[in-house]
Amino acid sequence: MTYDRLVCANCASPVNEGRCPVCRANRARLQQEGFFGGLNGLNPMALLAVLAVLIATVALLAHQTA
Ligand SMILES: [Zn+2]
Repeated sequence: MTYDRLVCANCASPVNEGRCPVCRANRARLQQEGFFGGLNGLNPMALLAVLAVLIATVALLAHQTA
């Protein structure tokens, strides 16, 4: 998560600490985006696609060298 380093413009405290309503609203929004966005902006389908490409590449290499 990247929101743990965000500083609130309202109270100048880390948003992650939720010291004011603005902090809590931003934290909730960012957590929701993180939940739906997956890991570091990659959604699960993108991760699966990357994994499939990696497996295909390894299979091709293994086939060529065998
Ligand atoms: Zn705040």
